[in-house]
Amino acid sequence: MALSIEPLFSDPVNGDFYKKAFLFLTEPERMVSFHVPWEDDNGEQHVNRGWRVEFSSALGPYKGGLRFHPTVNDGILKFLGFEQIFKNALTGLPLGGGKGGSDFDPKGRSDGEIRRFCESFMTQLNRYIGASTDIPAGDIGVGGREIGYMYGQYKRLTNLHGEGVLTGKSPLFGGIKLRPEATGFGAVYMAQHAIEDKLKSTLQGSHCAVSGSGNVAQYASRMLINLGAKVVSVSDSNGCLVFRDGMTNDDWDQLIEAKQVKRTRLSSLSCGEYIPSHSPWTVDDLSIDYAFPCATQNEIDSDGASLLMSKGCKGVFEGANLPVTAQGQEVLRENQKVLYIPGKAANAGGVGVSGLEMSQNAGKTYWAKEKVDVMLKDMMAGVYKQMKDGAGEDGSLEEGCNRAGFLKVAHALKELGWVY
Ligand code: NDP
Repeated sequence: MALSIEPLFSDPVNGDFYKKAFLFLTEPERMVSFHVPWEDDNGEQHVNRGWRVEFSSALGPYKGGLRFHPTVNDGILKFLGFEQIFKNALTGLPLGGGKGGSDFDPKGRSDGEIRRFCESFMTQLNRYIGASTDIPAGDIGVGGREIGYMYGQYKRLTNLHGEGVLTGKSPLFGGIKLRPEATGFGAVYMAQHAIEDKLKSTLQGSHCAVSGSGNVAQYASRMLINLGAKVVSVSDSNGCLVFRDGMTNDDWDQLIEAKQVKRTRLSSLSCGEYIPSHSPWTVDDLSIDYAFPCATQNEIDSDGASLLMSKGCKGVFEGANLPVTAQGQEVLRENQKVLYIPGKAANAGGVGVSGLEMSQNAGKTYWAKEKVDVMLKDMMAGVYKQMKDGAGEDGSLEEGCNRAGFLKVAHALKELGWVY
């Protein structure tokens, strides 16, 4: 991000202001931390830590997901919240940036344990959020089930029942249709724009490697299959499931059953070729035309990026947030031809449709799935245009999206009188 912004600091008219605005934005407006006591199925009490980073409200209420994963700490949430500011700016919606979560590990926990944890988490968090203040959503370890339990507790605590205070809710009580699909579908729509515009080609028949097997990976895979691409991999933190001729519809159904219903590991699936202790970025003999990292941060290091380049990979589209390490990014930048689209643009469809869920809730109505898909497609086209315009004649798409997001927030800071 900083590398893309730095040239703006030499602007003869606004350079000093941009520098001040950037420094202003590096400090979260507010950060809360709280304990989350909960009881397991054996009656034993545990205490985890919860956080909410309210990073910037320049463009609107704080907006960003909640992550439940044992690696969560305040540093990780700060980098995610910082990125979220500029991603949300690119959606074109009036959304500020935030992020939150807990170091709670949901893996292997029963439904009752998850519910008790979510209720305790919301008992603390509800003091800080509100439909016009801060609107959390899901992220790693937080899907529709967890959002449901947290919203249930919010309703009990506040007696507010139609609020767009959480997004990613079930359509039974205000959730927008297509939200589960939005991040993965949006990342593929973004890839389509870039491939058609820059390479005059399509995804049809191409070998696409997807990492992760959670929400983003599942629906990126679905849309890639719909568009005739060959999905050659998915993964989890234990290993990689490879489909050398592309995942079939039956394989995809098995994946969904395993991950959404049974909540089991990829190693238990009977389809594909399971390679333990590998990710798609470490399997030497896997053909990859396009990479869709959709698992977590820092999953593609310089070796992974070099392997992709040696295979002739033509595009990296980040479904996850910051999946490529700084060293991996350098490798991609050295290869001028590769299309590299950072998460703040490629995965903006998720928060974009969450923003639409807030509008839907404010209007006390429901929108058809087809209507939401059209809006998502328009939004991704808009993000691509901003990124291309931001890049100008000589810049990369990476520089373009970082600059476009930053400039929008910087100008808001000026007009609000917060930086002068
Ligand atoms: P899920 O929890 O649904 O899935 C996460 C997937 O990534 C799982 O397959 C998980 O495997 C894998 N994973 C997690 N940590 C690691 C790790 N350290 N090493 C290898 N694999 C790992 O999360 P989402 O799909 O929602 O999120 C994935 C990424 O997309 C995250 O970076 C998130 O911030 C980003 N994102 C998500 C959005 C959304 O709408 N959900 C919106 C925008 C971005 P395992 O089960 O073994 O842990």
